Amino acid sequence: LFAGQTEFVKGVVAMSGLPEADRLEVCFAGRSNVGKSTLINALTGMKALARASNTPGRTQEINYFTAGDFYLVDLPGYGYANAPLPIVEKWQRLLKQFLQGRQTLRRAFVLIDARHGVKSVDDEIMSLLDSAAVTFQAVLTKADKVKEVEREKILHQVRGALAKHPAAYPEIILTSSEKGWGIPTLRSVI
Ligand code: GDP
Repeated sequence: LFAGQTEFVKGVVAMSGLPEADRLEVCFAGRSNVGKSTLINALTGMKALARASNTPGRTQEINYFTAGDFYLVDLPGYGYANAPLPIVEKWQRLLKQFLQGRQTLRRAFVLIDARHGVKSVDDEIMSLLDSAAVTFQAVLTKADKVKEVEREKILHQVRGALAKHPAAYPEIILTSSEKGWGIPTLRSVI
């Protein structure tokens, strides 16, 4: 789909820095370490593409990539254990403005670690998406790290959490960037 055509555009720290809203876009959100960079790399077929978002100083930026004729947006990872409160608040403000104000945003993908399920910070993001009326879809990451029985338990928990969010799309996408599971599915959804 967009393998080989993906390019980093820019990192954005304020609404004023967003690229012109001249095409549709999808965004990726998730707790830090959920496997977001790895998934974006697997999706686009470009190794280290999203590495920029993991270097210090870049972590609070909204990173824009062009992918074919749309934008792929990497939102900063949330839920850092030791993040200072002002950083968290700044991030929440920007995220809220972005989700509520970006007309061309068509869907958000909320990445959930298949070992951990939906945590309270994920639930907060989902509520934000509800109030911004941005349809979102849950993507379980690192599915290779859990046994089938455990996977079913987590899926059950995630389904329960999604049921409370009107903006949630019911279908959960199970992925492993390591094994390539679910990548074609996610690509076709995008
Ligand atoms: P980010 O902070 O959300 O961008 O997370 P990263 O993409 O940097 O991944 C965090 C860690 O999880 C890294 O050590 C990755 O190698 C590992 N990881 C990411 N995706 C997978 C996966 O599908 N399977 C396994 N086993 N490990 C993964």
